[in-house]
Amino acid sequence: MRFTPDHQSFAQLGVSFYTRLNAQPLPSPYVVGQSRSVAKALGLEENWLVNNEALQALTGNALLPGSQPLASVYSGHQFGQWAGQLGDGRALLLGEMRDAQGQPQEIQLKGAGRTPYSRMGDGRAVLRSSIREFLCSEAMHGLGIPTTRALCVTGSDAPIRREEIETAAVVTRVAPSFIRFGHFEHFAYNGMTDELRKLADYVIERFYPTCKDAANPYAALLEAVSERTAKMIAQWQAVGFCHGVMNTDNMSILGLTMDYGPFQFLDAFDPNHICNHSDDRGRYAYNKQPNIAYWNLFCLGQALLPLISPDGEPDLAVAALESYKTIFPAELHARMSAKLGLPDAPATEGSKAVIEGILKLLAAGKVDYTIFWRRFSHAIASNQFESARDMFLDRASFDAWLLSFQERSAHISCRPNADLMLKTNPVYVLRNHLGEQAIRAAKLKDFSELDSLQKLLESPFTEVAGMEAYATFPPDWASTIEIYCSS
Ligand code: AMP
Ligand code: MG
Repeated sequence: MRFTPDHQSFAQLGVSFYTRLNAQPLPSPYVVGQSRSVAKALGLEENWLVNNEALQALTGNALLPGSQPLASVYSGHQFGQWAGQLGDGRALLLGEMRDAQGQPQEIQLKGAGRTPYSRMGDGRAVLRSSIREFLCSEAMHGLGIPTTRALCVTGSDAPIRREEIETAAVVTRVAPSFIRFGHFEHFAYNGMTDELRKLADYVIERFYPTCKDAANPYAALLEAVSERTAKMIAQWQAVGFCHGVMNTDNMSILGLTMDYGPFQFLDAFDPNHICNHSDDRGRYAYNKQPNIAYWNLFCLGQALLPLISPDGEPDLAVAALESYKTIFPAELHARMSAKLGLPDAPATEGSKAVIEGILKLLAAGKVDYTIFWRRFSHAIASNQFESARDMFLDRASFDAWLLSFQERSAHISCRPNADLMLKTNPVYVLRNHLGEQAIRAAKLKDFSELDSLQKLLESPFTEVAGMEAYATFPPDWASTIEIYCSS
């Protein structure tokens, strides 16, 4: 199959939803990285990107057959404040194509030039941030966490001004839809109830068809989105992922992780960790993410209120949101229990205390989160606990916790499942310094590091001989990496 994003169901919503325009060219484009697994999922031919037509099209120098690009309009709350109109300021929807399973997938360029929604921005993305988005999208997918995907990154030596002069790149993103909470907020805030309904009907029809049969389909939609969001956030917390900019315009209506900016996988476990150097107050700190997601869902609920109850009565919307408060803790408990190899541990006080106990010790000892869980999985497999125990200065407390864990497993008559633990606790995560190494090499036009890192992150639970350096503690310089919103 060729690369032909030639359908566009989103465009049928009408002109209040977008502006049509073409990408702006970038000189002498080259391939920076590509995901073979996304290409395969899209049914593309083996060497699809070697073909100059695709490379030119993905850097804004040509149009793919049948493609009619558009930038969509949305609004949103940023850092807790209403920010008004935003929109695809540097993203362009090329169209959609059917994947190998026959499902429609939207193809979007990020960094393809200015749009009517660019405000003060230049419509571009730099190589550094594009590589981070590419790697993280594919790493999250490898971890089994819902996310938008990244087909490839293309680059150009065109200079881009940020804190310093960098070079341009474009990420080709793939998802069933890039619709955000902010799309709904946009039409609600502007009192455009017909458009709001059209948008909700479109999302229900395509992605939440069972909501159509509910007594109140829009309340059902809110509940379904709350559920997907709760499940996604539970996965973030369990793997130690910080998004960094959980503004409502970065929240997917499909519960996908999206808009990778200053994200970070935790190194040492610190519940208060703030990964975004622009986030002075720590609004989006790791341990705040679950509540922020609820706050964002509340904004979505407010936006949907004119559809849920035209008389403004909030009870149905509030009831739909309530589901988050039960689903999130239940999901988190299930994820953490799986990390401990006890997937069926009921959410009793005793089981919860075991989970809280280890998290407290990890925080007190600033223990590396990923390495601890992997070592603990191996410890359960081999019944040798030294290498996990050695990670704690306070060994007595670890021993006491281990005893409480063993008592708990005995109490629920369940031996910890080491196989499950090794498939739940990854060996490889996209630590900041690993991304940084790939970026530094890519800036010198060596893309091999990026390629090998991406391949490793595709199967993060499989230990690969010779790749131990990617699974070890971060070097001292890792803590000096500063990631801001601007990218
Ligand atoms: P973000 O913080 O990346 O989610 O972006 C928030 C808003 O700013 C969105 O509407 C983006 O499209 C827009 N934006 C971010 N960076 C740029 C840029 N370099 N040029 C134009 N718009 C941008
Ligand atoms: Mg965004």
